[in-house]
Amino acid sequence: MKQVQDYIRTIVDFPHEGIMFRDVTTLFADPRGFRMAIDQVLHPYAGIDIDKVAGLEARGFIIGGAIAHQLSVGFVPVRKKGKLPGRTISQEYKLEYGEAIVEIHEDAIKPGEKVLLVDDLLATGGTAEAGIKLIERLGGEVVSTAFIIDLPDLGGRRRLEALGKEVLALCS
Ligand code: 5GP
Repeated sequence: MKQVQDYIRTIVDFPHEGIMFRDVTTLFADPRGFRMAIDQVLHPYAGIDIDKVAGLEARGFIIGGAIAHQLSVGFVPVRKKGKLPGRTISQEYKLEYGEAIVEIHEDAIKPGEKVLLVDDLLATGGTAEAGIKLIERLGGEVVSTAFIIDLPDLGGRRRLEALGKEVLALCS
């Protein structure tokens, strides 16, 4: 039987020369692949107390929406600067070249809420760490983080675990 990683393709030199981009659109487009990935992400959270799922733009929205629906909890988007219509708080983080800013609506998470943070891929962990900081600044508790792919050589797992966060990934 095909596994989750079998549905993911690698695009060479995207978005820049020398980058091997892991393309999850082929996983999302396949009915068995998508279902398998969502079911496998959900499995460890059966019986765990989660109030909200937060997804990182943009592929984290696709996974996060499906997971929130299955858990019967709300979904919260963490978006790039300037995309959210309401009042937001912002968090800067470092990219390989330069910096980026992510934002969350300031009323999206209530103090004490338990949040599962999701994205398609964990590389350096910079984006996920910024998302964790936003959630925690609103008083939320990030109970776990979940990804389809972890690229272990880039150190994201170590970085998030150093913050005391659980990291679950389906493949590397
Ligand atoms: P990090 O902040 O951990 O270095 O990078 C992770 C973020 O960049 C995620 O939001 C992820 O969607 C995106 N990303 C970086 N490289 C890839 C890749 O090869 N494939 C996909 N699908 N996303 C990537």
